[in-house]
Amino acid sequence: MAGKVATKPRSVLIVGVGGQGVIMMSKVLALVCQRHGLQVKQSEVHGMAKRGGGVFSHIRYGETVSSPTIPKGEADVLLAMEWSEGLRWLDFLRRDGGAFIADTKRIVPPFAFRSRKYGSQPIYSPEAPREVMEMVGSGFALDATKIAAELGEPRAANTVLLGVLSTTLEFSADDWREVIAQNVPAKAQEANRLAFEAGRDWADASRASTMEDRLRELPGRDELAAEIAPKSVQFEITGEWCKGCDICVKMCPERCLRLNDEQIAELANPEACTGCRICEWLCPDFAIRVHRVPVLEPVA
Ligand code: SF4
Ligand code: SF4
Repeated sequence: MAGKVATKPRSVLIVGVGGQGVIMMSKVLALVCQRHGLQVKQSEVHGMAKRGGGVFSHIRYGETVSSPTIPKGEADVLLAMEWSEGLRWLDFLRRDGGAFIADTKRIVPPFAFRSRKYGSQPIYSPEAPREVMEMVGSGFALDATKIAAELGEPRAANTVLLGVLSTTLEFSADDWREVIAQNVPAKAQEANRLAFEAGRDWADASRASTMEDRLRELPGRDELAAEIAPKSVQFEITGEWCKGCDICVKMCPERCLRLNDEQIAELANPEACTGCRICEWLCPDFAIRVHRVPVLEPVA
């Protein structure tokens, strides 16, 4: 929807977790606004960003803007890069026509697995995209990561979401294209260009479809529960990055890690590992990755 640029302040709230590009997306929006001589105020928090903690950015723009923060119930757009972060901020969205744009991607934090028992269910928002979108007046729920991966670059998921966002604000598509091109490295230009157009195309197709069709494509509670049902654990350690600080060894609740002769952490007792991811969360050098993968049914 490219149209007359707003003179009354408009508010866009972008939320996600560390590393997803919330701040980059806010910057792109702010630069688009500035091309039209608008005043832009931005307020952001990214304290725990490196560890998958919540990150949010309030962006307000207009001819004149007095406050940088968006009061509850006054965001014209809430853009969530992670599903439960979107739910957490839903109260900030305007009830009379605010647009909710959400990536259905779910990043379950390690401490959500409170019981640590093998195959345990995490404490995570149970609300499924299908039921939330039914409630929200103007909603776009999409698997942006999957769309970006199909284009060959999963890290461009945030640009897919920018494509959707661009269809809800009054600036032209070319404004966005030019600002994005100026703000991504040369080697990522093409991937981001494709991702932006894919986001816009997805939004146009979504608007053209019926509510029933849109809801049918979204996961319900049963599908979500199945996603996090029994898992097997794959433990991965990058030895070059491990400095042998011993934190993971000391903090593993199951005592299944140790330092080897080269003072590098290793999984000494794989059977005891529950996949709780506490070691991954606490390693200061990002040397550990714990993958909880679905258990495959044996072929009969
Ligand atoms: S916390 Fe990280 S750096 Fe420290 S011993 Fe464990 S893997 Fe190595
Ligand atoms: S090795 Fe890591 S994932 Fe496995 S139980 Fe210990 S802390 Fe949890």
